[in-house]
Amino acid sequence: MPFPLATAREIAASFMAKDLSAEEIVQAALSRIAALDPQVGAFLTVTERQALARARELDRRRQAGEPGGPLAAVPLALKDNLCTRGIPTTCASRILQNFLPPYDATVVERLAAAGAIIVGKTNLDEFAMGSSTETSAYQLTRNPWDLSRVPGGTSGGSAAAVAAGMVPVALGSDTGGSIRQPAACCGVVGLKPTYGLVSRFGLVAHASSLDQIGPLSRDVTDNVLLFEAVAGPDPRDATALAGAIPTVRLEIGRDLAGLRIGLISELLGDGVQPAVLRTVHAAADWFASNGALVELAQLPTIAVGIAAYYLIATAEASANLARYDGVKYGLRSEQPDLSSMYRKTRAQGFGAEVKRRIMLGTYALSAGYYEAYYQKAQLVRTKLREDYRRAFEKFDLLLSCTSPTTAFRLGEKLEDPLAMYLADIATVGANLAGIPALSFNGGFDDRGLPIGLQLQGAALSEPILYRAAYAFEQAYDFIGRRPALVTDAELSASAG
Ligand code: GLN
Repeated sequence: MPFPLATAREIAASFMAKDLSAEEIVQAALSRIAALDPQVGAFLTVTERQALARARELDRRRQAGEPGGPLAAVPLALKDNLCTRGIPTTCASRILQNFLPPYDATVVERLAAAGAIIVGKTNLDEFAMGSSTETSAYQLTRNPWDLSRVPGGTSGGSAAAVAAGMVPVALGSDTGGSIRQPAACCGVVGLKPTYGLVSRFGLVAHASSLDQIGPLSRDVTDNVLLFEAVAGPDPRDATALAGAIPTVRLEIGRDLAGLRIGLISELLGDGVQPAVLRTVHAAADWFASNGALVELAQLPTIAVGIAAYYLIATAEASANLARYDGVKYGLRSEQPDLSSMYRKTRAQGFGAEVKRRIMLGTYALSAGYYEAYYQKAQLVRTKLREDYRRAFEKFDLLLSCTSPTTAFRLGEKLEDPLAMYLADIATVGANLAGIPALSFNGGFDDRGLPIGLQLQGAALSEPILYRAAYAFEQAYDFIGRRPALVTDAELSASAG
């Protein structure tokens, strides 16, 4: 397999075997980014200088006989809402245009300890609010499978970078589907871990009770590698879980005998594209004929999950975004008095979608409306958790689509926020309930666009999610199919 499409584990192995130096690996990733990113637009910042310096350091350490970590010399991209010391972290917002964090997120420290090399920061919807990466204040990101379509969002830059083979793995964040939906749109694997399994320290907050950081990769095994590198307790995040992370290794490669899978009946109807529906049923049949017990499952509250999510997420966002006032961070609009400085800074610094969220959230939290909206949404959240609890008495995993449609065209939903919000119907439940959910490729529609399948499990069931997705991936060669964009570049490179 040509180098840029190698997996993270193959890259780490060739580095440790001295087949490739870290510098050669980083150069290859950088030249691929230079060749493809003008079309795709996945990166907001490419950290060429730092990445090369780090590569030379890793080469020296290998020379000195030091053992490499599990991600030794693996080039990696980070969503631009993860704090990186001295490297711009913009959240794709004008308000953080010149923000250089004074510290690294916990996940960034852990990646460094595992030997990874950060090659850049990826585009997202502004402050991770959206489902298409189109609300970025800086640039559009295009879907590598079809450049006229969105990569999904909000971790669209990370998903597109992985799908295009610019990096083997990347980190994203997921508040209501932002890792899984772009993974689905771009035909890659994305995990939203159990709430608290990955430290949020250094993740710029969107909605703190829902946010989780997670891995994107081309296959399940690389996803596990990245998950294990970043998960685990952290005293700097009060919501991080104590205790060891669940061991995935023992589950990978096990057959599916005895696994009970529930097909979520509420996600089989209205609004789901026929090709997506066919893929979900085909996957259910595949699981059933490979040892799993598949039956219909009910999650009745999911129908109002979207409404609850958009009240809770906006309420938390309105509070979290209060800190951007021109005093400490990024943009400041110089004005004669303090209150017009606040007002002008926020008016100029935030885009339309972020402003909409702040207004919705402030409204839902204000006196008189608090009971009518915010509190009701919390009741729905409790009911939904109860639905899941009941479902997991009967099933180990719940199967559905990740997104009701394949990637839509750029601009198609931008003027219709409600249509954009409704596309999150299958993903917000896992965030509201705090449970893990995995998206992986289940096939393609008749335009050749990837279709994502989602598995959800009870808290800390990551090993079972990975086991089922791994078995499915082994049975189909979807991984072998790459976007034409990638293949063309590869062909001309090998011809030249
Ligand atoms: N699309 C959802 C939203 O706009 C989810 C975003 C996310 O997960 N960060 O809120």
